[in-house]
Amino acid sequence: MSERLLGRRSFLAAGLAAPLLGVSNGCGLGAPRFSANPFTLGIASGDPAPDGVVLWTRLATDPLHGGGLPPDESYQVHWRIASDSNMLQVVQQGTAEAVPEWGHSVHVEVSGLEPGRWYWYQFRAGSEESPRGRTRTAEGTGASLQKLRFAVASCQHYEHGYFTAYRHMASEDLELVVHLGDYIYEGASKEDSGKEDNAEEGRTRRHFGGEIKSLAAYRNRYALYKSDPDLQAAHAAFPWVVTWDDHEFDNNYASGIPEEKAPAPRDAFLARRAAAYHAYYEHMPLRRSAMPSGPRMQLYRSLGYGNLARFSVLDTRQYRSDQPCGDRNKPLCEGVFDPAATMLGSEQEDWLGAQLRGSDARWNLLAQQVMMGRVDRLPGPEKLFSMDQWSGYEAPRKRLLASLREGTAANPVVLTGDIHANWVNDLKVDFDDPRSTAVATEFVGTSITSGGDGSDLREETAGVLRENPFVKFFNNQRGYIRCTLTPELCQADYQVMDFVEKPGGTISTRASFVVENGRPGAVPA
Ligand code: FE
Ligand code: CA
Repeated sequence: MSERLLGRRSFLAAGLAAPLLGVSNGCGLGAPRFSANPFTLGIASGDPAPDGVVLWTRLATDPLHGGGLPPDESYQVHWRIASDSNMLQVVQQGTAEAVPEWGHSVHVEVSGLEPGRWYWYQFRAGSEESPRGRTRTAEGTGASLQKLRFAVASCQHYEHGYFTAYRHMASEDLELVVHLGDYIYEGASKEDSGKEDNAEEGRTRRHFGGEIKSLAAYRNRYALYKSDPDLQAAHAAFPWVVTWDDHEFDNNYASGIPEEKAPAPRDAFLARRAAAYHAYYEHMPLRRSAMPSGPRMQLYRSLGYGNLARFSVLDTRQYRSDQPCGDRNKPLCEGVFDPAATMLGSEQEDWLGAQLRGSDARWNLLAQQVMMGRVDRLPGPEKLFSMDQWSGYEAPRKRLLASLREGTAANPVVLTGDIHANWVNDLKVDFDDPRSTAVATEFVGTSITSGGDGSDLREETAGVLRENPFVKFFNNQRGYIRCTLTPELCQADYQVMDFVEKPGGTISTRASFVVENGRPGAVPA
C-alpha cells in the first residue's frame, strides 16, 4: 500500500476531467497525493523547432521496480514554461495526462514560442514539483545565425563508470546535445550474466536482473540510467536530440534479425523490439510523430537552425539488411558488395536524399550511429573490416558518399557514435584510391562511459593510422565532442575524461579539429 497512490482513481481515461484538474493546482480536494516524490527520473526537453520544443518527464515513485504507481491510474501533470530562470514570466502552461500505457510519461509539444531563445520549464503533479529545466528553441528558418554550439554524446554503459562527463557537459556553453545512441545497455548484470570475462571491463556500478526483454524490464533499465544525477543535470541544462543505436534493443541487431550468435524466432524478436521501442519512446523527449506502433518507430527526422545548420538524424538499425558474413571484423566477403544491401532502408534513403537536395544550410550534419570511414583494422596487405559499420555495406556507403560529392548540400559533416573511441576521418567515395579526395568529414565521438577509463591510444593504433591515412585522429578515452559552427568553420573539440571508473574525474580538451567552409576534410585547429 505504501507505494500506492493515495488519491482518487483517475477518470481521465473518459476524457472528462482535464480542464477541471488543470486548475486544481494540487490544492483541490481531488489532487493526487504521492507516497514519494514522483519526479525521480528528472526532466528533459528535446527536438527544438523555431517555435517550440518537447518537454518530458515520467512519474515514478519507485523507479527501479516498475515505477511504483498503480497500473490502472492516470495522472494530470501540470507544466509551465517561462522566459526567465526564476519562472516569474510564464509564457505558457497546461496539463498533460500521464497514462499507465506509456509508463506515466509525459511528452508536451509546446508551440508558439519565440525562435532562438532560452526558456525554463517545470512540472507539477499534485503538490509535488519537478526540478526546473532550461531549454532553447531553434533559430527560425532562413534566419542568419552566426554561431551554434552543441555536444555529441553516445554509449553510456552504467556498469562501466560514472556519468561525470555529463556533469561537465552541463556547465558548458551549449545550445543543444545530440545523442547518438546506446543510451542504455540491455545486458544482464554481472551476477546474472554467468560470464567471467565481464570482470575485466571494470564494472563499477551494477545493472540488476538478467538481459532485459520485457517492457517492464526495459522500463526498469531506463529508470536505473535516468536516476543518475549527472545525466539528469545534462538533460536539465539543454534540449537534446536523440537517436538510438543497437543496445536500446539488442546488440548488433539488424532490423528483425538478432546478432549472429543469438538466434531467435522472428515473431518473438519483433515482440521484444516492440517492447524496446515502446520504452525508448517513453523515456525520450520525442515528438508524437515518433510514437511507436508495435515494432515500428519513425525516429529519423530533420532539424534546422536558421541558415547555419541542418541536422538529419538517422536510424541505421531498424531498416538495415543483415550484416554480411557475420557481425564481427571480417575480411572482405561477397556480401559486403551486395548491391541490394541497405543501411537506411529505401524510404529513409530517399528521404535523406530529399533533405540534402532541399537544404540551403551552411552545414549539413548527419547524426547517425556507425562509422562511415572504411577503416582497415589489420595492418599489412590483408584487410579486416567491421561488418556492423558502413564498411560492411559498400553499395549504400558509396551511394551516400557519391550523393554528397555530387549533391548541392553544403559542407556535409557526419557525426558518429557506437565504437567507444574518438576518430576524425576524411570520407571518400573510393577509399582504395589514394587520389580520391574527401567529400565529407566524419567526427566519431567516444563513449560517456562504455569501455571504462580507456587510454590515449591502443596497442594497434599506430598500425591502424598508418594503414588508413584518411584517419586524422584517434583517442580511446571517454567523454564527448563539443562542436562549434560558424558560417566559416565547424570545430570539434574532443573533450576527454581522465577517468570514469571512479567519481570525480576531470575533463580536458584532448584535440581540436576544424572543417573550413567549402573544404571537406578536417585539419587540426
Ligand atoms: Fe556502445
Ligand atoms: Ca547479424
